[in-house]
Amino acid sequence: MDIKQGFVGTIGNTPLIRLNSFSEQTGCEILAKAEFLNPGGSIKDRAALYIIEDAEKQGLLKPGGTVVEGTAGNTGIGLAHICNAKGYKCLIIIPNTQSQEKIDALTTLGAEVRPVPAVPYKDPNNYVKLSGRVATEIENAIWANQFDNLANRRAHYETTGEEIWRQTGGKIDGWVAATGTGGTYAGVAMCLKEKNPAVKCVIADPMGSGLYSYVKTGEIKISGNSITEGIGNSRITANMEGAPIDDAIQIDDQEALRVVYQLLHQDGLLMGGSTGINVGAAVALAKQLGPGHTIVTILCDNGSRYQSRIFNQEWLASKGLVVS
Ligand code: PMP
Repeated sequence: MDIKQGFVGTIGNTPLIRLNSFSEQTGCEILAKAEFLNPGGSIKDRAALYIIEDAEKQGLLKPGGTVVEGTAGNTGIGLAHICNAKGYKCLIIIPNTQSQEKIDALTTLGAEVRPVPAVPYKDPNNYVKLSGRVATEIENAIWANQFDNLANRRAHYETTGEEIWRQTGGKIDGWVAATGTGGTYAGVAMCLKEKNPAVKCVIADPMGSGLYSYVKTGEIKISGNSITEGIGNSRITANMEGAPIDDAIQIDDQEALRVVYQLLHQDGLLMGGSTGINVGAAVALAKQLGPGHTIVTILCDNGSRYQSRIFNQEWLASKGLVVS
C-alpha cells in the first residue's frame, strides 16, 4: 500500500524534472524541483508545515489557536490549507500589490485576509511587522514569522536538499534559486555544501532586490523593480544568515518572461514569474560552467496564479513588457 496521510502527508517528495528545451539549448542538464506539485501548489507548503509543527512541538500553538502571518501569498495559502487540516484559524496580512488570484485563494480557504498598503520594511506598518503586532493582540495565536523563523530553512535543509541529492545521485554541479525569505535557497545550499563543497551555490535575483549587489560588493543597493512576486529582498533575513553563497546572477523581467513563455510553449509547463528568474539564472550559470554540467533549480508555483498578470497581454503592455 502507498497511501499519503492527508494534506500534510502529501507535502514534499516532488519530482525532479529535466527541462528539455533548456538542457538541449545549453548542453547542460537543467533540472528543476516541481514544487508547484505540492498539495497547496507552491514551494511554501514545506516551510508552512515545519513552522506550524515546530510551534506545536514547543507548545506555542494549542488546539483551536490562530496562525498569523504577513505573506505575499504562497506561504499564506500553505498555512491556510494546513490550518484547515489541523483545526486552526488563519489570519493573513498581504501587501495590496499581490495578484487577485492569490487573495481569492486565501479567502476561499477560509483565511481572514487583510490587504494592506505595500510600504518598505523600515516602515512600522510594513506587512511583516504589522503581522507580528497583530499576533500579540489575539489570544492563543502564533506569528509564523517566515522571514526569521529558522524552521523555514530547516524544512529545505531536511527535505528539499536531501531529495535533490538523492534524486540526482549526487551528480550536481550547481544550485541556483531566487530568495524571498531565503528559506529555500539557504536550506538547500547548506545541505548540498555539506554533501559536496564543490557544488556551486548561486542566488538568482530580480531587479529591485538588494541581494545581487550584496553578493557582488558587500552592500545592499536597490535599483529598478520587478513584476515577479514573492522574491527579492532588501535585507539579510535570519534564514539567509550564514548560508553559503558563491555568486549571484541578476535577471530582468523581460528575460524572466521570455523564459516563462519558453517553459510554456516548449516544455509544456505553466509557471509563475519567480520560476522565470530561477530558470533564467540556471541558463546563465550553465553558460558560465560550460556544457556537461548538472544544474538544479526550483519550479516555484503554477502560472494559473498569475493569469491576470504575466499571461495577460494588456497587463504586460501596461508595464512596458512584450512577449515575442
Ligand atoms: N517563488 C514564489 C512564487 C514565492 O512565493 C516564494 C516565497 N515568497 C519564493 C519563490 C521564494 O521562496 P523562499 O521564501 O523560500 O525564499
